[in-house]
Amino acid sequence: MIALITRLARAEEEAWLAVLRDAMPLETILPIATLTEAQRAEVEIAIVADPDPADLRRLPSLRWIHSLWAGVERLVGELSDLERPIVRLVDPELARTMAEAVLAWTLYLSRDMPAYASQQRVHLWQQRPYRPATELRIGLLGLGALGSAAAGLLQAAGFTVSGWARSPKAIAGVESHAGAEGLRTLLAKADIVVCLLPLTAETKGLLDAGAFAGMRRGASLINFGRGRIVETAALLAALDQGHLSHAVLDVFEAEPLATDSPLWDHPKVTVLPHISAPTNPKTAAAVVAGNIATYRRTGAIPQAVNRDRGY
Ligand code: NAP
Repeated sequence: MIALITRLARAEEEAWLAVLRDAMPLETILPIATLTEAQRAEVEIAIVADPDPADLRRLPSLRWIHSLWAGVERLVGELSDLERPIVRLVDPELARTMAEAVLAWTLYLSRDMPAYASQQRVHLWQQRPYRPATELRIGLLGLGALGSAAAGLLQAAGFTVSGWARSPKAIAGVESHAGAEGLRTLLAKADIVVCLLPLTAETKGLLDAGAFAGMRRGASLINFGRGRIVETAALLAALDQGHLSHAVLDVFEAEPLATDSPLWDHPKVTVLPHISAPTNPKTAAAVVAGNIATYRRTGAIPQAVNRDRGY
């Protein structure tokens, strides 16, 4: 018995239920609200999307939890007392989608689209110097499932790529950095910094005034990780002082972004509504089905989130 536990709108939950059942025709998957007390006692696996933690605590036979999302900081925080493995979504299609977004918005910045858009508004015909991709260094913060896919696509487009992770990585052609000194080196060299880090106790507020001061003058930031990794006031100050050129933000401290946020109207900020890598229900359901099939066959629970590291 598998319980589907979400706080999604009803239609969205029903759509997920349908694709999950399609992907796992031999499994019984039921929404938590429809389970009897006896059925709850049988649930071994919970598939979750923004679940109410109380629902998970009421499942005495629960062995593990599969999230439908790649980012699990909220789940890890809310379930700190529930010692069950949390498996997050690692979907190659999600990584491909994110890599595509990183390339798209990197090109948006490298080809000066914000500047040409504002020139057009004042009918200004002015050619700006062309900067070939090979002369631009993109600094990726995070070289996990999403960061490493982005590194591949950026390199294929000709960009020079550096990356930063907790542990050094060997990715062909990518200059790898780790640790505090590695972060300083990456920030000092990158023309565009792309954040693909998870939100953890260590990454919260990582991109603050000190980090921005350590970036090259005229550099830009793309944040596709989580909003709280960036200190918004410090970012706005760095943009207003002209130290940074532009920021493309897809994630925010609070979402949806408040209608009175200064970010909306800032000429050097592009606001996106958390859309850089939407989960594809079909491919995500196939990944979840694969993990559950392996568990049924072998008893092995897929690699879980490390609670101490927070990702
Ligand atoms: P992942 O595979 O767990 O990779 C995380 C990367 O961050 C790893 O390279 C890790 O280093 C590095 N890292 C973590 N903490 C660090 C620290 N303190 N110092 C240095 N490096 C650190 O995660 P993922 O699948 O790539 O996803 C990354 C994040 O993207 C998710 O957590 C989520 O928040 C966000 N996301 C956003 C969207 C969107 O639409 N905007 C969509 C999906 C996901 P190691 O490799 O050394 O462990």
